[in-house]
Amino acid sequence: MDSDHSHVLIFPFPVQGHVSCMLKLAELLCLSGLHVTFLNSDIIHRRLLRYTDVVSRFSRYPGFTFETISDGLPPDHPRSGNRVVDIFDSIKMVTKPRFREMLLPGGCLNCSNRPPVSSVIADGIMCFTIDVAKEIGIPIYLFRTVSASCFWAFYCIPKLIESGDLPIKEDDEMDRLLIGVTGMEKYLRLRDLPSFCRASDLSDRAFQVVTSETQETHRANGLILNTFEDLEESALVQIRKHIPNLYAIGPLHAHLKSRLEARMTSPPRSSNSLWEEDRTCMTWLDKQSRKSVIYVSFGSMTMLSREELIEFWYGLVNSRKKFLWVVRPNSVAGDGQNFPTQLLEGTMERGYMVRWAPQEEVLAHPAVGGFLTHSGWNSTLESIVAAVPMICWPYYADQQVNSRLVGEVWKLGFDMKDICDRVVVEKIVKDLMGVRRDELIRPVDRMMKMARRSVVEDGTSHSNLNRLIDDIKTSTKKKEIF
Ligand code: UDP
Repeated sequence: MDSDHSHVLIFPFPVQGHVSCMLKLAELLCLSGLHVTFLNSDIIHRRLLRYTDVVSRFSRYPGFTFETISDGLPPDHPRSGNRVVDIFDSIKMVTKPRFREMLLPGGCLNCSNRPPVSSVIADGIMCFTIDVAKEIGIPIYLFRTVSASCFWAFYCIPKLIESGDLPIKEDDEMDRLLIGVTGMEKYLRLRDLPSFCRASDLSDRAFQVVTSETQETHRANGLILNTFEDLEESALVQIRKHIPNLYAIGPLHAHLKSRLEARMTSPPRSSNSLWEEDRTCMTWLDKQSRKSVIYVSFGSMTMLSREELIEFWYGLVNSRKKFLWVVRPNSVAGDGQNFPTQLLEGTMERGYMVRWAPQEEVLAHPAVGGFLTHSGWNSTLESIVAAVPMICWPYYADQQVNSRLVGEVWKLGFDMKDICDRVVVEKIVKDLMGVRRDELIRPVDRMMKMARRSVVEDGTSHSNLNRLIDDIKTSTKKKEIF
């Protein structure tokens, strides 16, 4: 590792999907010899300490430090998808001034025996970080954890308002194609816009936050995306017209694995989970035949109603396929008791349920043949790299866009957005695991190969990350000279 004086502060929005992929970026930067400080919310940090080996894993890197900051919410706040606006608001009110104090000269981020922070990589939905970085005169790069296509759809929102497409009206035809998101005219329907666009009132808080934060991106020194050129070429071309300094460096989990493997023969297993991983599901998978199991998980933020849970459950049991289902604690509203005997018996026979799984390992297991997913961006990339076809049931945010791409553009699975019905679930599971499997195999295999190629030496994501590292190092050297 060649060490220099560059010191990068990484600051994720404090939820599972954002923290885990930004930790992967942190490790990639450590591998190139940079000093890295990772700023976690107190509560996220406590959970990482409790459920992972993150501290001992990062102790390999002498230039790495964790720091913590309050997210301003009470400890018992659920911090779930249906309350995400509370996190935005609290961060703006409470975390923002503290962040500024910490980063200013003399603040705790700059007073250790390490070089001063010379660049910031902040979550792109916290653009207040741009003002602070500019105040102290250091470059700031924004990291957006959504797909490039979703970022582009967010970017086009002002145009969609101007054309009258937004707000969506009560009698709007949701399957109508949109022309306002350049490059996606052939497939993006009103239904496929990010969930926040469904607000009937444009003053809706979540809609306001994503729209305004996205429009501020160009004020940063660059934009980092967890995607790869072959996957989202068209969206990347459009974004570059407005934000030329764009680094597509994903899939980050595969990128990290590849760079670690280039240095050591068998890199240790790593987890960034905020819940305890139940590894008994791996033993259960070991007993199942090849490609026979559908893995079901709706990520870290989705809330299901009891009715939705029951519909999925009947659909899975009636499909008569084997299933491994993650039902996160407190992720189902209403009564968690008195389930029909048929479901309990069907699960004993063919299913396995856990509260949280080691997802990357599950997807890589030979017994897993399909993924019923909420189309979170990390889950989508993990499925692509593992060559597992998907059934998409998007919940919110970028997931509506991602699932359309999976189903209609990349042909890596089936999109069942806005439908939650046991008959449909049963049919689509049978299609994915049997009847229509053949039509997905070739595109899934092709995309997996392109993803893996992008992160090895001379791959596009590999080169883009090298460029980012060079830019960080060069800006530090320039500052040292002047
Ligand atoms: N995940 C996991 N175990 C589970 C469910 C999810 O490790 O049982 C991980 C998954 O691998 C992914 C992340 O949690 O990296 C979820 O991120 P994603 O962007 O897919 O969705 P979000 O949770 O942000 O909605």
